[in-house]
Amino acid sequence: MKLMNGMEYVESLRAYHPDIQVKGKKVTSVADEPLFKPGINAVAVTYELAHMEKHKDIMLATLPDGTKINRMNALDFSKDDLLKKLEATRLICKWTGCGQRYLMHDALGALAEITAMMDAEKNTDHFSVLKGYLDHVQKHDLTCGAAVTDPKGDRSKRPHQQENPDLYVRVVEKNQKGIVVRGAKANITGAPYMHELIVLPTRAMQQEDVDYAVSFAVRVDAPGLRMIAKPAGRPDDAEAPFSSNYGQSTALVIFNDVFIPWDKVFLCGEWEYTGKLAEAFANHHRQSCIGARAGLGDMIIGASALMSEYNGAPHNEVSHIRRSMAELIRITEGFFATGVAAAVYGHQTVAGNYVPNAVQSNIGKWMLAEQIYDIFRIAHEISGGIVVTAPTAEDMALPESGELINHYLGGKHGVTANERIQMARFIEDLTASKEGGFYSVISLHGGGSPEAMRMSTVRNYDFESQKEHILHKLKCFAKIEGTCKECVTCLNDELSEQEC
Ligand SMILES: Cc1cc2nc3c(=O)[nH]c(=O)nc-3n(C[C@H](O)[C@H](O)[C@H](O)COP(=O)(O)OP(=O)(O)OC[C@H]3O[C@@H](n4cnc5c(N)ncnc54)[C@H](O)[C@@H]3O)c2cc1C
Repeated sequence: MKLMNGMEYVESLRAYHPDIQVKGKKVTSVADEPLFKPGINAVAVTYELAHMEKHKDIMLATLPDGTKINRMNALDFSKDDLLKKLEATRLICKWTGCGQRYLMHDALGALAEITAMMDAEKNTDHFSVLKGYLDHVQKHDLTCGAAVTDPKGDRSKRPHQQENPDLYVRVVEKNQKGIVVRGAKANITGAPYMHELIVLPTRAMQQEDVDYAVSFAVRVDAPGLRMIAKPAGRPDDAEAPFSSNYGQSTALVIFNDVFIPWDKVFLCGEWEYTGKLAEAFANHHRQSCIGARAGLGDMIIGASALMSEYNGAPHNEVSHIRRSMAELIRITEGFFATGVAAAVYGHQTVAGNYVPNAVQSNIGKWMLAEQIYDIFRIAHEISGGIVVTAPTAEDMALPESGELINHYLGGKHGVTANERIQMARFIEDLTASKEGGFYSVISLHGGGSPEAMRMSTVRNYDFESQKEHILHKLKCFAKIEGTCKECVTCLNDELSEQEC
C-alpha cells in the first residue's frame, strides 16, 4: 500500500489527461493550472497530515491485516472510527476550509452497506466488485470525487418524466464488457483534480426510472467524460490571504456515452436500492460536513478573538464581545456535538462497516446549514466594518498613503495598521467575500438542502417507540385510577396490559 505525500499527489495528477475547461479555456495540465492550485493544495493537505506523527491516530486507519491507510480511503469498522473520521475532517478543514477528499470516504461507506444488502437480498455480486474497487483505491492512495447530484431539470418530475432524458445519468447500453452511460452530474466538488469519480444516484428511483438506477466509478479522463469547471477559491488574488492558497473547484461533469467496465459498476438496474444508497451516502456525508464546518468555525473563532484584541475590545474583557464569542463557540461546538453523538450512536451494517446515527447526523448538518449565517454575522459584529473597508494592498504600498493608513488605522497600543488589516482581510476572505458566499451556500446546500435534512430526520426518527410509550403510560395511569396501585412503580415499557 502506498501512502503518498502532498507533492506525490500533485505529481500523480500528471498521469491523467481529463477533458476540462475552466473560464472558457481548455486545461492542458491540471497539476500546473493556476486556477485549480488552491484546490490541489487543499487535497494535498489530506496527504501531508497523514504523515505527521501527531495526527497519525486520526488521519490513518488500520486495515484488518494491520496495514495503515489514509482515513479518507477507509471504511469505518467501529464507532471509534466514525469519531476519528469526524475529527480528521475537522482537522483537514481547519487548515483548508474544505479538504474535499472526505466525499470519497462517504461514498465508499454507503456503497459497502448497500452492495452487501443487495447481495444478501437479491443474490447479486456487487459487494465483491466494491471490495475490488476499494483495494484499488487503497493500494494507490487515490482521491475520488463523489458525483451524486444530477442537474434534475424540472424538480417536480421524476427522471423518466423529464422532457430532456439526459438530466439524470442513465445507462444507454449494456454489453458483456460493461455499460455505457449518458447524462451529467452538477456541482461536483474538486472534480478536475480527482483521480476518479464515484457516481451514485441522487434520489430514490421507481421502476420506470430503471435505466437511471446506476452507480459506478470512472477515471476522470475516461473517453467521453468532459468537465466545465470553476476556479478553486480566489487564485492569485492578493486580497485573499486564505482562498488564494486553499479553495475548491466545482464542475459540471458530462458523460457523453462513457464506457464503464463491469468491475467498476456497483449497481445497475436495482432501482429499489437507489433511495437507500442515496440516503446512506447522505448519512455519512452529513456527519463529515459537521466536522468540515467545525473546522471553518475554529478558524473564524481564532480570527475573531485576535481581531477583538487588536481592536482593544478584547473578548475576555468586554462583556458583549465575550457574549458574542461564547455564541460562536456554542454554535460550533453545538453542531459538532451532534457529529460526536452520530458516531457514538452509530451502528454496524450487514457489510460489517459502521454508519453514523442518521437522526444525529441530519440534525447536525441542518444546524450548521442555518447557523453558518449566524457565525458570519457574529464575526462581523466582533470585528467591525474594517472587515470590508480595509484599504487595498496597492494603497498601503505607496509611501505617502501607506504612512497615512499606518497613522490612522492601527489598533490598540502595539498593533500596527498592517496587522489589523491582515486580520480583517482574512475574516473578509472567509466570511464576506465571494469565497465567504461560497462557504454559506456549500454549508446550506452541500450534502443536501435543509428540506432534505428535515425529511431524513423524520424518516429515520423512531416515532413508533415514542407513541407506544405514551399509550402504555396512559394505560398504566388508567389502572392506577382503578385497582392496580402497584403500577406506581412500573417502569417497564415492554409489559403487556395483562402483565401490568
Ligand atoms: C459548493 C457545493 C459543492 C457541492 N459538491 C457536491 C459534490 O461534490 N457532489 C455532489 O453530488 N453534489 C454536490 N453538491 C450538490 C448538493 O448536494 C446540491 O446542491 C443539493 O443536493 C441541492 O440540490 P440543488 O443544488 O440541485 O438544489 P435544488 O434541488 O434545485 O433545490 C433548490 C430548492 O428546491 C427545493 N426542491 C428541490 N426539489 C424539490 C422537489 N421535487 N419538490 C419540492 N422542493 C424541491 C429544495 O429543497 C431547495 O429548497 C454541492 C453543492 C454545492 C453548493
